[in-house]
Amino acid sequence: MPIRSLHRWWMAGQRQVPVAILFYHRVADDHPNPWTISRRQFQRQIDWLAKHFDLVSLEECQRRITTGNSRPAVAITFDDGYAENCEWAMPLLIERRIPVTYFVVLDNLLKQTAFLHDQQTGHPFPVNTVEQIRALADTGIEIGSHTRTHPDLSQIHDVSKLFDEIVAATVELGNLINRPIRYFAIPFGQQAHLSPMLFQVAREAGLAGVCSAYGGFNAVGGDTFHLKRIHGDPCFSRLRNWLQFDWRMLNVPDYDYEFPAD
Ligand SMILES: [Zn+2]
Repeated sequence: MPIRSLHRWWMAGQRQVPVAILFYHRVADDHPNPWTISRRQFQRQIDWLAKHFDLVSLEECQRRITTGNSRPAVAITFDDGYAENCEWAMPLLIERRIPVTYFVVLDNLLKQTAFLHDQQTGHPFPVNTVEQIRALADTGIEIGSHTRTHPDLSQIHDVSKLFDEIVAATVELGNLINRPIRYFAIPFGQQAHLSPMLFQVAREAGLAGVCSAYGGFNAVGGDTFHLKRIHGDPCFSRLRNWLQFDWRMLNVPDYDYEFPAD
């Protein structure tokens, strides 16, 4: 049995609980869609989460995955960078001192262009400005990188292009806010959008963690580099079901991003 699996098996015997990480996109009351949650629903989720979980940073998630976690814990993340989040949702989280990692797409931020998935649906929602991102960082929110152009990274086979989307965009974002960027979120984030090469590039760039979005918990004793996330579903009962930990969920296989040794 590999050492990581052995450690996880042993930790499971100690009744260690896995760590959950949620991702949201846009909190707003207009144009509901699968990546928009209303203010009322968002507040309901946050109230429930705050009551039942330790709300922790990604760094604290990684610490608990490594050293053990005896209390249910959830980390909150956001993807893409929607301007409306700064009107209500982020002030709410900041006021309650809830740790957040906020992943932004560099090109949309700099060019102030709507995301392609919103242009395609005819609702070009406003994106965050550099000033907003700096202000979030100043309040202690961790800013993360979500590539330069939000491509499907699994379809990029040119290493220099991959390097630009993952490493150069991350460094440029860090320079904009005058802070190092530690975390990266994979666009789309389903298993089909992952590739061993993207993990290798991210790891060699010195990133602390890479987030996917296909669901699953992060088991104690498991991987701290690839952080699995669950959708902050606009449907409250579905979210609650997701987070009521089922030990069978520990058996969801990890994505194997290691290159075979040659
Ligand atoms: Zn995205």
